[in-house]
Amino acid sequence: MNTQELWTAVLSELELQLSKANFTTWFRSTFIYSFQNGEVIVAIPSTFYKSWIEKKYHKTILTLLQDLSPEPIRSVQYKVETHQRPPEPILPPAPPQAAPVQFTQNRTVNNNSIVPPTQDFAPTTNGLNPKYIFTAFIVGKGNELAHAAAQAVSTKPGTAYNPLFLYGGVGLGKTHLLQAIGHEMIKRNEKTRVLYVTCERFTNDFINAVRTGRAKDFKDLYRNVDLLLIDDIQFMAGKKETQEEFFHTFNALHQQNRQIVLTSDRPPRAIIDLEDRLKSRFECGMLADVLTPDLETRVAILQTKCNEKGYSLAPEILLEIAKLVQSNVRELEGALNKIYAHHQLQNIAPTTSSVRPLLSSFNGPSNQKFVSARILIETVARYFDIKLEELLGASREKRLAFPRQITMYLMREELKSSFPNIGRELGGRDHTTAMHACDKIKLELTSNERLVHDIENILSQVRAR
Ligand code: ADP
Ligand code: MG
Repeated sequence: MNTQELWTAVLSELELQLSKANFTTWFRSTFIYSFQNGEVIVAIPSTFYKSWIEKKYHKTILTLLQDLSPEPIRSVQYKVETHQRPPEPILPPAPPQAAPVQFTQNRTVNNNSIVPPTQDFAPTTNGLNPKYIFTAFIVGKGNELAHAAAQAVSTKPGTAYNPLFLYGGVGLGKTHLLQAIGHEMIKRNEKTRVLYVTCERFTNDFINAVRTGRAKDFKDLYRNVDLLLIDDIQFMAGKKETQEEFFHTFNALHQQNRQIVLTSDRPPRAIIDLEDRLKSRFECGMLADVLTPDLETRVAILQTKCNEKGYSLAPEILLEIAKLVQSNVRELEGALNKIYAHHQLQNIAPTTSSVRPLLSSFNGPSNQKFVSARILIETVARYFDIKLEELLGASREKRLAFPRQITMYLMREELKSSFPNIGRELGGRDHTTAMHACDKIKLELTSNERLVHDIENILSQVRAR
């Protein structure tokens, strides 16, 4: 891992946490300027942004760096700087006493699932979170296909669908289902060797293995499992060597009918910078999408979470929360915790009217969302001085295509709209068009100052309406 990769990891976490705030505004063009003896200096392009970030985000940045860096972090400082230096490598922590490279029964924990043999690049358990089991997963419209496929795979691994590829937006239960397969297979046969890793972990393990001359240990680890679960495979995009290695890992497992399950935020063909041969491998098993749960499912999920947490909230309160929070299950759970904590502290019973203002920061009902999408579209059209019909129309002229892409990007970032929805709102386009547009604008924002300004101006006009 070098400083650039570390910062990218921090930014992707921040992006998830700063739901409403305009992530791009504050963090575009930031990078790690230096990293020495645990002291990190983050470069920020202007004094104004620097003081804002110091004030508002320092704690979060520090915690994220501490979580993500292989080296201890002692302090984080900020510096106004626009010129990037070449990224510095961050060495992994000194390896512990050389561990014997072997799979033996006595090195297992809890059950006989796999415990990786080496400690410097491998997780120390099978990586599963005990919470993520099938019985804690509520099945409803939106996730029933993914759930059924996950169950089929766990009862008939290596034969039903291999690989199983689950995809969909954040917080919709992909990781939960992925890990439930692991738990279920261990439950059925405690000798099953299960390994769950994030794509990032796989990548880091591979890089470290190569650097420390332990490629064989890496292969021994990843190619000797019965079930390999890799989360968020979209992050393999653009990583050529890792893709190459994963291709071989995949084939080795697949040939022996070992089960592979992958998750991603989008279908394989929409992952840009992923080798075609991997895409076709991913598509040769089963693709299952996970969509946002409908109202009924959201209520059921809230009910289950209440039981788990020992909260007692009246059904009409749960219904109100489910109506107000539509985006994803993670936010739904966040909203539930917020409502519960607030009323507990005040020692009052929640009512529908006391709940509403507390959830104003979550996504509003869909008609409200519709209004904001309209406002966004209208604002962009006015900003670029083009007609609404032109923006939504079929012409691919550059003067229209670019504003259209910007609109798509803003709908994604600001309204958290799904790609199919963005496509629909923008004149009935395909969801892959929306995905490409968002990726393109995101990329362009890193180098095109003018675009950054345009977007800032558009946003301030939207907010002023
Ligand atoms: P993703 O990986 O798709 O971003 P996660 O699997 O991390 O989403 O899910 C986010 C949270 O929501 C987790 O705590 C998970 O247990 C919960 N969750 C998601 N879907 C469901 C569901 N259908 N039933 C119960 N809990 C769910
Ligand atoms: Mg996940």
